[in-house]
Amino acid sequence: MPQTKVLQVNNLVTAFRINKQEYPVLNGISFDVAQNETLCVVGESGCGKSVMTLSVMQLLPANGSVKSGSIKLDGQELLGLRENEMGQIRGNKMGMIFQEPMTCLNPLLTIGYQMTEGLRRHDKGLSKKEAEAAALSYLNQVGVSNPEARLRQYPFQLSGGLRQRVMIAMMMSMRPRLLIADEPTTALDVTIQKQVLLLLAKLKRTMNAGILFITHDLGVVAEIADRVIVLYAGRKVEEGTVRQIFENPQHPYTRGLMAAVPNIAEDTFEIRPIPGSLPNIMEPVGGCSFHPRCKEAIARCKSVIPPLIETSPGHMAACHLVGGQTA
Ligand code: SF4
Repeated sequence: MPQTKVLQVNNLVTAFRINKQEYPVLNGISFDVAQNETLCVVGESGCGKSVMTLSVMQLLPANGSVKSGSIKLDGQELLGLRENEMGQIRGNKMGMIFQEPMTCLNPLLTIGYQMTEGLRRHDKGLSKKEAEAAALSYLNQVGVSNPEARLRQYPFQLSGGLRQRVMIAMMMSMRPRLLIADEPTTALDVTIQKQVLLLLAKLKRTMNAGILFITHDLGVVAEIADRVIVLYAGRKVEEGTVRQIFENPQHPYTRGLMAAVPNIAEDTFEIRPIPGSLPNIMEPVGGCSFHPRCKEAIARCKSVIPPLIETSPGHMAACHLVGGQTA
């Protein structure tokens, strides 16, 4: 059944200015996130994943800017909004959770103050007492033990896992339409990571929100994703359901990412990393940007950028070898 699109990104081009010259970091990326859906974005560090989320949130560093394209949240175009309008959207409709929650929590204020102020900003009619009761209820829902005492604590007094739970509780209290999670579990140990992933899945269901989840960890993708996009050097090279991507990866880069993790189910602990590294944005590679690392490259890969081809419904890949294309 078609679901309402929460986020629609179309042909997004983002560039960075370095030494007075502009270098594109995202080259015409399109994707969408429906409500009650988790879209995972995967790729190695430096492939453009985080620039993508920063573009959506419009929190790019001073030397970065969106050059063209469209970013719509619930049908509203975000590009061109003033910073105060964007601030309202980030505070009300977009929830964000990062690898290090301290980037979002104020170290000088107690958890209770930050939660109740956030709740009262969101709902002006809420009294201090009501906001405190709501904060306690949200902390309970995300499984924070002894929530009354936590409200009086400062962020540095909590463990990494507890801080992420507090962040999730704060997000829940906003009832956002879109959650943006950038490597939120990378710094956590496996048990806590699993709990945080379960919480995010619950949050998505109960709030009917969409999740844009950035990770380099395919184990996390298998746990949480409904659909997946694979980025390489600022381009989308594959997109499909989590099943399509794991059972029938079409792009040599996706297959390379899969081979780079041990397969416990098949008892293969051999890890085969992809040789070479991502191209430097200041020295772009012609043709398919993966060709210097691709074992399957053919002559045209050096000069022609492969288009995205749909290989089965909802599954697409950008490679000259898919969809019956030949040299
Ligand atoms: Fe490899 Fe060519 Fe396909 Fe790029 S287009 S992934 S270089 S085979």
